[in-house]
Amino acid sequence: MTTDTDGFSPRCRALLEVAESLATQTFEPCANHNDQADSPPAENIRLLAKAGLLGLTTPERYGGHGVTGAVLRAYTEILASACGLTTFVQGQHLSAAMLIATGENEPLKEELLPRFARGEVLCGVAFSHLRRPGTPVLRVRQEGGEYLFEGTAPWFTGWGLMEQVVVAGTLPDGKYLYVAAPLTVGESLQVSAPMRLCAMNASGTVALHYRGFRVPADRTIKIITREQMAVNDLSAILGVTPQPFGVTRASIRLLRSLANARSQPVISLTADALEQELASVRREVCAWLDRSGEEGYKPAALRARARAIELGVRAAHAAVAAAGGSANHRDQTAQRLFREAMFYTLTAQTRDVQTATLERLTEQSLRAAGEA
Ligand SMILES: Cc1cc2nc3c(=O)[nH]c(=O)nc-3n(C[C@H](O)[C@H](O)[C@H](O)COP(=O)(O)OP(=O)(O)OC[C@H]3O[C@@H](n4cnc5c(N)ncnc54)[C@H](O)[C@@H]3O)c2cc1C
Repeated sequence: MTTDTDGFSPRCRALLEVAESLATQTFEPCANHNDQADSPPAENIRLLAKAGLLGLTTPERYGGHGVTGAVLRAYTEILASACGLTTFVQGQHLSAAMLIATGENEPLKEELLPRFARGEVLCGVAFSHLRRPGTPVLRVRQEGGEYLFEGTAPWFTGWGLMEQVVVAGTLPDGKYLYVAAPLTVGESLQVSAPMRLCAMNASGTVALHYRGFRVPADRTIKIITREQMAVNDLSAILGVTPQPFGVTRASIRLLRSLANARSQPVISLTADALEQELASVRREVCAWLDRSGEEGYKPAALRARARAIELGVRAAHAAVAAAGGSANHRDQTAQRLFREAMFYTLTAQTRDVQTATLERLTEQSLRAAGEA
């Protein structure tokens, strides 16, 4: 096991060992193939369900494992160093389970969470549109015992695999309503064709178009204000760092195998340097985890997230450079890692994360200009 699991319970270590074995023996060898497929990696998701790993974010009393954030991070990094696509698709399901588990609707938890944990029912999420400024793209209003959704959720991943969605819309008073709803296509729910994407093309990502879609009020997970969402976003700044760490690790692995195959010492030196940098960024991220209430957290966490993003892109770029012309073949690993690293730049992006990423790139550019 390459991830540091000191301090994890034997049960969590066992779960991570299963994840590591699936990742290295099954997901990684098929990652380039699955990346080029035209639908989500159903077999990989089935294997994760069979291993109980789709219940990681579900509390034990609803049939899951209720693991800590540290275990979830280690797990995500293991998967992301093998197959970005599988990591991303199953991550939507884990997020949906976590949203329901931390929500306020006990009967909904009892009904859905055990089935989610077993992977019997798969669920995606559609809420990132709430962060867009200006007129809400998906509105919702109450009519008796139901909510009516009107508008578009521009991003939904897992089409073809998921049966349910945790979808959020804006209420007339500006608050945000989250519900669990079925993905039943009809007059009131139309779905775009799967998007043609540079990275995660096989993730079954679509737009959901709602036209008077009715959801019983008893499917409500939570209603929050804009300010509460901002607090959630603040504590989630470092949430998407295991993915760029995973892609960095995969890039270093590729560099090492290229260095073994060719007698180019520079490739080993590059891998060594990236490994040291990964350890340094990891320390910076770990130093600020779970401290969102503390002074100085926000700029420090944003800086660490931007560093992780940029390291992932640069490590994958090094793998591309070392692999040479063949890196551009669609069935080669280097270009896949490069596209996955690009994706980690924009996934779960908030305006603050966007700004921090651009500031880091600007600083580097100015420093380089000064050196010239
Ligand atoms: C392949 C793929 C799959 C995805 N799947 C899902 C999914 O399943 N569920 C889900 O909820 N989301 C999903 N997303 C969305 C993803 O998390 C978003 O890319 C990310 O949150 C950025 O949001 P956006 O694209 O809507 O923002 P953009 O509109 O591109 O904006 C980026 C950031 O800039 C800010 N911004 C935009 N316009 C302005 C402006 N005029 N002034 C100031 N600030 C502005 C926004 O607030 C936002 O934070 C997916 C994205 C991709 C690429």
